Amino acid sequence: ASKRRGKNCVEFFNIDMQREASQLMQLEEDLRHALSSRQLALAFQPIVNIEQDRVVAFEALVRWQHPEQGLLMPGHFIPAAEQSGLIIPLGFWVLRSVCQGLVARIEAQRDLVPVALNISPQQFRDKHFMTEVAAILRETGVPPDLLEFEITESTLMDNLDATIAILNALKGLGIRISIDDFGTGYSSLALLKQLPVDTLKIDRCFVKDIGENEEDRQIIQAVIAMSAQLDLDVIAEGVETVAQRDLLHAFGCRQVQGYFYGRPVIGAIPDTGRLLPHTADAIA
Ligand code: C2E
Ligand code: MG
Ligand code: MG
Ligand code: MG
Repeated sequence: ASKRRGKNCVEFFNIDMQREASQLMQLEEDLRHALSSRQLALAFQPIVNIEQDRVVAFEALVRWQHPEQGLLMPGHFIPAAEQSGLIIPLGFWVLRSVCQGLVARIEAQRDLVPVALNISPQQFRDKHFMTEVAAILRETGVPPDLLEFEITESTLMDNLDATIAILNALKGLGIRISIDDFGTGYSSLALLKQLPVDTLKIDRCFVKDIGENEEDRQIIQAVIAMSAQLDLDVIAEGVETVAQRDLLHAFGCRQVQGYFYGRPVIGAIPDTGRLLPHTADAIA
């Protein structure tokens, strides 16, 4: 907005920039504190097999219970965490918490499905990433096949040789890999074929207008066909209505995630039976 004030108002522009910079520094400071004082929490959202009406996994999504500002969503603080490098300890806090939650369920003999969690680009490229992941697995004793790492398409395509090496190492530990926000990057079938991944998650922007938008429908059908070719699972994100669910089902998509089946809920990893498909609060 300040740019619109024109060349004569350079000072205002600088003041705005200073304010933005100091707000960012404050956010970083608060986040550093949040990490060490239990202000972060995880919300879990079900991933559902729509043929069997069964919860097949949960995705862990980070939340910040800010003492003054209330509940903050990742969009509000993940960019600052990325910029400050705090995403590295934050990401490992998420991983350790998920592992501990899974082990607690095993010890309590509760039902178990895998838990997916998001790995940021910076974390994925960090030179200590694999050592730290292996250490957390060892320390918690979690069965690695209960973990699924979600990495965005753009992160994976960034440096293909390095990507393949890290993915192979993760697969070697027994962790499964999903490509998050799929369809927003430019992966070809040939590129995808080189990646040792298990699942494609179709970004919710393609699901949103699936009823009206022929182009989005075609993209979704192409992704489903491609995943069949490559023997990958597909999950459609952002399913909010029965109409979206029915169309996806007709296209051969078997797994979905979205408000129609359940919103992310803060707390421990939920029981799989607690969320009843179709009766969840679908929003109009
Ligand atoms: P994502 O990994 O693609 O996660 C899905 C996002 O879509 C979540 O937003 C979820 O609440 C939202 N969502 C799920 N179903 C629906 C639906 O039916 N309709 C709509 N409108 N939205 C739906 P959230 O929790 O705000 O997270 C946003 C993004 O922040 C995530 O996108 C992920 O990229 C990032 N993120 C979340 N948790 C973490 C984390 O622990 N580490 C890192 N590095 N990134 C995270
Ligand atoms: Mg995700
Ligand atoms: Mg996603
Ligand atoms: Mg997304």
